[in-house]
Amino acid sequence: MDPLSEAAIADLGRLCPGGVERGVDLSAVSQWRIGGRADLVLRPTSTAEVSALTRWFAARGIRPVVIGLTSNLLFDDAGLRVPCIQIGARMARMSLEGAEVRAQAGIWVPGLARRLMQAGRGGAEHICGIPGTLGGLICMNGGSQRKGIGSSLLEVESVTPDGVVHTRPAQDGGFGYRQSVYQTNGEIITAATLHLPPRPRAEIRTEMRAILADRRRKFPRKEPNCGSVFKSNPAMYAQIGPPGAAIERLGFKGLRVGGALVSPQHANFIVNTGGATAADVLTLIARIGAVVDAATGFRMEAEACFVRADGTIRPADTILTESIS
Ligand SMILES: Cc1cc2nc3c(=O)[nH]c(=O)nc-3n(C[C@H](O)[C@H](O)[C@H](O)COP(=O)(O)OP(=O)(O)OC[C@H]3O[C@@H](n4cnc5c(N)ncnc54)[C@H](O)[C@@H]3O)c2cc1C
Repeated sequence: MDPLSEAAIADLGRLCPGGVERGVDLSAVSQWRIGGRADLVLRPTSTAEVSALTRWFAARGIRPVVIGLTSNLLFDDAGLRVPCIQIGARMARMSLEGAEVRAQAGIWVPGLARRLMQAGRGGAEHICGIPGTLGGLICMNGGSQRKGIGSSLLEVESVTPDGVVHTRPAQDGGFGYRQSVYQTNGEIITAATLHLPPRPRAEIRTEMRAILADRRRKFPRKEPNCGSVFKSNPAMYAQIGPPGAAIERLGFKGLRVGGALVSPQHANFIVNTGGATAADVLTLIARIGAVVDAATGFRMEAEACFVRADGTIRPADTILTESIS
């Protein structure tokens, strides 16, 4: 069944009331402000809706793609031809019980951090400046200050590609440096329980303020970007330093391809100065990766991921610009 047919849209509207949008311009809504048109975006409000949607798609052999706030994603200039399930502001409730915090996956991470500070729950201060959703953070095992959210999780609720709701203890989540099982198992994270012990509010506030001030000083803030493009590699870090330092030393700061520019402020950021295409960004990533590899012997992996028009998501350094659809 064509998911864009009138009958399909009516079905999907019943399963996800008020959350069906056709023809979304990704260059207007994605954080990098890059990408073509997404045919269909669905924004559910509950685990039950996510389950109903995935069952509907599975029964028709359609594999939707899941996104959060797109803060780690580079979309294909050709757009997105498969349905996209976006877990965001419509799925953002949270509750506290003792040291346990339960939150839906669409909650905005800086807002979650602020509420944890107000509630006097410590341990997640490092996430306060990360502009994504909790679901995206868990999938990427994101964090800062050399931490990842995985170490604060008790369990994660997700929906399998055939619609079954599953609760997985954190130790089964495959959490490693910017890694989790959710990057490959096709499940949609719908909620999580975190263990965050009490800590005086003033201490949390002081730590978060210092983190945010440091980020404001180091990172470009005006032009659209997706944060650090390349992941840090421990062996490379020990010998040469973080990716930004290696890229800067090789003279890449200020290098431009089309509308994409290696940030003069921080060399591990590529900013969109206006009208950048995915091809521009991928060309820069490929060039930087090849030169760093040749000069240092270290192959840097991209943290930023490319979303092809067919919905497959891959680290952006693995995409050859020639193969963009
Ligand atoms: C200015 C800036 C600063 C940043 N700083 C940091 C930082 O300090 N540390 C850091 O770790 N990251 C950082 N990032 C990157 C990014 O914010 C994180 O990776 C974030 O966790 C991604 O969340 P998202 O909701 O935007 O996910 P998206 O970018 O929308 O998606 C990222 C991945 O998660 C998957 N995903 C999203 N939601 C779900 C879900 N509910 N279920 C299953 N899979 C899902 C997607 O399929 C995709 O593979 C930064 C980005 C920017 C723009």
